[in-house]
Parts: sequence; C-alpha cells; structure tokens
Amino acid sequence: MHYTGLVNRYRSRLPFGPEVKAVTLNEGNTPLIELVNIPKLAGFEGRILVKFEGLNPTGSFKDRGMTAAVTQAVHEGSKAIICASTGNTSAAAAAYAARAGITAFVLIPEGKIALGKLAQAVVHGAVVVQIQGNFDDGMRLVKEVAQTAPVAIVNSINPYRLQGQKTAAFEIVEALGRAPDYHCLPVGNAGNISAYWMGYKEATGQRATASMDGYALEAFSGNLPKMAGYQAAGAAPFLRGGRVANPETVATAIRIGDPQSWDHAWAAQKESGGWFDECTDPEILATQRLLAEKEGIWCEPASAASLCGALRDIKNGKIAQGSTVVCTLTGNGLKDPDIVIQAGLKGLVQVAAERAAVEQAIVSQLR
Ligand SMILES: *Cc1c(COP(=O)(O)O)cnc(C)c1O
Repeated sequence: MHYTGLVNRYRSRLPFGPEVKAVTLNEGNTPLIELVNIPKLAGFEGRILVKFEGLNPTGSFKDRGMTAAVTQAVHEGSKAIICASTGNTSAAAAAYAARAGITAFVLIPEGKIALGKLAQAVVHGAVVVQIQGNFDDGMRLVKEVAQTAPVAIVNSINPYRLQGQKTAAFEIVEALGRAPDYHCLPVGNAGNISAYWMGYKEATGQRATASMDGYALEAFSGNLPKMAGYQAAGAAPFLRGGRVANPETVATAIRIGDPQSWDHAWAAQKESGGWFDECTDPEILATQRLLAEKEGIWCEPASAASLCGALRDIKNGKIAQGSTVVCTLTGNGLKDPDIVIQAGLKGLVQVAAERAAVEQAIVSQLR
C-alpha cells in the first residue's frame, strides 16, 4: 500500500478520528540502519542501530510532531501557527504551514542557527522573527504572545507534537520485532525522549488505552528499553539539576537551558531505569565524523550526541555487551555544512590540471 505519512499509518493510535484530514509530506517510515564498522571498532559484540531521522522531508524528526500539530491546528480552523526554534522546528513548521496554506511565524535566536535551517524557514515562506536572545527567551515570548494573538503554538508543549513523535518507537518495535535493550538520544527541550518513552509503552501494550492493530508488534516480548538521554556539556540542565542560564554548545539544536518537557523526561529516565549524561563539544564533533567516515551516515552535531554517549557507556560497561542499542540520529548533516568545513578540508588535494599530477595524487592516497 502507498505510504501516506504517519498520521494515516498510525491513526488508530493517535488522537485523530477518521474525519480528520492529515497535513502530510509522507514523513516517518525512516530507515533503522545497523552499524557494521563502529561496533567492531568499539569492541562491542551487541548491535547498534541508528534511526536516521535526518531522512524526513525537512531533514529532522521534527516533521513527525509537526504533521500531527498542523493537522490538528488546521482541523480546529487555525490560520496561523507559531513556534520558537533552534532551527529544525521552524524548518518543519514553515514546510507544513506551506503545505496547509496557512502562515507560520517562527522565533529564532540571533546567530547560533545553522544556515541550512534558516534557509528552510525562508524558502517555505515563514515569517522569521529573529530575537536578540536565545531559544529559552523565544519559548517564553511565544507563550506570552499566543495568549492574545490568534495563533496555534506548535512547540513540543503542544501535546500533538509528542503524539506524532512517539510513532518512531512504533517503527523501531516493528523493525526489530521487539524493543531494543537501550535507546539513546540527544536531549534539548526533552520532548523527544518523552515521546519515545510513551511510544514504547504503548507499543508494548503497557498502557490500557493503547490499541494494537497488528504488524510485527504481536511478536514483541514485552521488555521496555532503558532510555539514555545525552546532553551537550554546556547545555545540560538534567545533569545540573535545574535550569542553565546561558547554554552554549556547537550542537545548536540542543542549546537549551530550560527544557519544557522536564517532568516527562525525568519520568522516562526513572521508569525505564535509564540515565542522563553529558558529552563535550569535541566529543560530539568527533562522533559526527566517525559516523560519517566509518558508516557513510552524516548527521548534524546534536544528533551525534546519542551515539557519542552510547559508545562511552559501552566502553564503561553501563551498556551491557551483547545488547541491542538504538540511537536516534535526529537531524541531517547537510543542514549545517559549515561545522565540517570550518574544521578544515581534510582530504582536499590541489594539483595541476595534468595527468601525471592527478595520477601521483591518487597513488599517494590509495590505502
Ligand atoms: C529538536 C532537536 C533535538 C532535541 O530534541 P528535544 O525533543 O528538544 O529534546 C535534537 N537534535 C535535533 C537535530 C533537533 O532538531
């Protein structure tokens, strides 16, 4: 059957009746890719699989939540949506608003936004409001403005966002025939870790209202994963035990000091027996490179925090040998090419436009 996006695919497990028309770009249904080289390099005898959410229509998992939030907004008759964003939410909001023929207002922090993401908001025709502040300031302002202006908030405080995002857990359970032993992901506003946990619980029938309608879910053993959330060291409120005033990290998508899904995320950690930890910027960038060079998968810096933390916890034994680990790669590396280029053009060889020079360059580089 032709795939028409996650609202239609999982409608029976989402808060949408049959009469609600999906605003969709056929998001979701992303590949769960098994890493073949990195586990060997890490001396790991289990399996590491990455859920490559960078292959969603606008290049991040935000599309899962946005299809649900915009579907509901349009169903309720909204003519405009608004969000604060570190970049990917605004890209998704802009695209889905364009699809629905409504207006998107996006508040972004001054500087510190990957150029590709800004371009996405612009090209899809959003009204881009750049504020002299960070994401947390933007979030506060959106909540204030939406009290009076006729706009629907599509940040992850909108419950439809997490409903859409939980479907990634459904897909993983279907692909594996069970839940993984560990699920690792980057944590910023903490909506996604909360959504995955909700999804895993529903997929395993541990929530009374979950309706099961077949697929590989039936074969599922019932075990839930331990949820591991990794933050950037300069933006790690879950490690500090409270709000961080001036979050700083190269991983701009998780440069958030005041996570909106604070309670949900702690519940996911506690209920699952998982943990939070932090990764430094150099560790995050090194993992982004490792994944690109050893597996051919280019994710954005924030996304690499999941694998970065997982590899460290494999090394220190927190993640057991022989287990199955899924890491969410939240966004596509193409959104932020600057970060790679700034580090230097490794592998660039300049020669004269002559056969001998080119041959020499090739021979000297063969491995
Ligand atoms: C939004 C985002 C995150 C953080 O997700 P939260 O739900 O805010 O924790 C991580 N990585 C990327 C690429 C994102 O766009």
